[in-house]
Amino acid sequence: MVIESTECILCRRLRQKNNQGLLVKGYYICPECEARIIVLSREDPDYDHYKWGLKKIWYCPGA
Ligand SMILES: [Zn+2]
Repeated sequence: MVIESTECILCRRLRQKNNQGLLVKGYYICPECEARIIVLSREDPDYDHYKWGLKKIWYCPGA
């Protein structure tokens, strides 16, 4: 049984009832953060924060 997150791993916004956004390995990413990641550049002040959040999803299975 897969336990799915109910809040965005990046901004902790609660998952919406209409179920928009991404689910990656059970972690939820809200539409706002999804859009942010797509346009994010290395120069962006939030880059490290998002990179950290995504790292948690993709490089630490089961953590
Ligand atoms: Zn978010």
